[in-house]
Amino acid sequence: MRKISLENTQAAGKKTIKEVNQKLILNLIREHQPISRVEISNRTELQRSTVTIITERLLNENWVYEGESGPSNTNGGGRRPRNMYLNPDKQHVLGVEVGREQTILAVADLNGKILSRKLTETKRDASVFFPALAKAIKSYARESRLRTGVEVTGVGIGLGGYIEKATGRIIAAENFGWMDVPAGDLLRKSLDLPLYFENNAKLAAFAEIWFGREKGRRNFIYISTRDGLGTGVIINGEIYNGARDGAAEFGHFALFPYGERCACGNYGCWEVYASDMATVRRYLQMSKSTENASDHSPDINISHLIQRARQADDAAKKALQGTAEYLGLGIANLVFGFNPEAVLIGDSLMEAWDIIAEIIHTTVRSRVPSYYLEGLEIIPSSIKESHSLLGAIALTLAHDFSISRNL
Ligand SMILES: [Zn+2]
Repeated sequence: MRKISLENTQAAGKKTIKEVNQKLILNLIREHQPISRVEISNRTELQRSTVTIITERLLNENWVYEGESGPSNTNGGGRRPRNMYLNPDKQHVLGVEVGREQTILAVADLNGKILSRKLTETKRDASVFFPALAKAIKSYARESRLRTGVEVTGVGIGLGGYIEKATGRIIAAENFGWMDVPAGDLLRKSLDLPLYFENNAKLAAFAEIWFGREKGRRNFIYISTRDGLGTGVIINGEIYNGARDGAAEFGHFALFPYGERCACGNYGCWEVYASDMATVRRYLQMSKSTENASDHSPDINISHLIQRARQADDAAKKALQGTAEYLGLGIANLVFGFNPEAVLIGDSLMEAWDIIAEIIHTTVRSRVPSYYLEGLEIIPSSIKESHSLLGAIALTLAHDFSISRNL
C-alpha cells in the first residue's frame, strides 16, 4: 500500500492541510471502496464534519460517486450510510513498458484497470524509436479520448537500465544497446502530457504494492530476469532509488570476479549467469554437446526452453536448474543486505516455478544462517503479466493520490 507522505507538511498552511486531508480521503476511498463517510471518519480519525465537507468537494469535482447504501450500523431504523466509490472515469492514464523486444502501451482508468492495450516493436535505434513512440502515445491518447470521452492526463514510462527519473534520460541500458539516450527529451518534443519515468524492474516492484498481493508488505525485493537481470527494492513501502536513481542494480553485482564478460564491461556479473539470455545460452551450449539434441536453433527464447524442459529435454531442464542455483546465490547476498520480508521472482521464470523453486530455496538455505531466514518468503509474483506496465500505470496514478511529488 502506498502511503501518502506527510513529510512535507511541517509548517503547512491551511490550504496544504486541506489538500493533505483530501488526498488522504481520496486514497482511502480508492483502497477500501465501497466505503461510507462513517468508516472514513473512523479510519482517518478526522471529525465527521470534516469528512462531510471533503467528500462533498470530491463529489462535486467528480472524483468519487455515491453508490448503493451500506449496512445500517444501528439496530434497525437508523439511516443506512451511503457508500462512496472512486469515479474510474474522472480521468485516464497511459502506461508504457519499453521491453527489449516489444513495447506495450495501455490506457487505464483511475482504478488502474486496463481498458485497452497495443503492442509495437522496440527499435534498436533510439533516435528513431523514441520520436516514433511519442507519436504512438499521442495518437493512442487521442483515440482513447474519442472512444471513451475521458482525457488521458499523464503517461508513465518504464525503461530498462539506469534511468534518470526526473528527465527520462537513459544513462545506461546495456542490454538495449542504449547509452546516454535523452529519451525524455525525444518524447517531450511532440508530447505535452506529464511524463513520469522509472526503471522497469522498480516499476514491477511498485505494481506489487499498488495492485498485487504485497500491498501489506513494506520491505521486499522483486527480481526480473527478462531483459538482463533487474531488481526493484522496496524499503518502508517505497521504491529505493539511491542518491541518483542508480540503486538496486544487482544484476551487475559480481557473482564470480573472474567470470564471464558482461555487457556492462565487467566480469562475472549476476545477470551473466541468471538472466533469461544466460539460461538460453547455457541451454544451447549444453544441447550442442548432446548428440541427440533435436534443435539448436539460436532463435529459441525462455518460454520455448521452459516448454522443452517440460517435454523431458534434459538440457533445458539442466539450464533452468543452473539458473535457479545462480538466482539462489544472488538472493543469499540480498538477504544479508536487506533482511527483506519477501523476494519475488516475476516475469518469465514464473512459468518454471515448479522446476526452479526447490533449488533456489536450497541454495539460499545453504548460504544463509537460519536466523536470517525467519519469516522470509521466496515466491513467484502475484501479478500474472505485464508487471512493469502495471507499475507504469501505478506510478502515474500515484501522482493523483500522493502529496509528495518525489515518487
Ligand atoms: Zn554487468
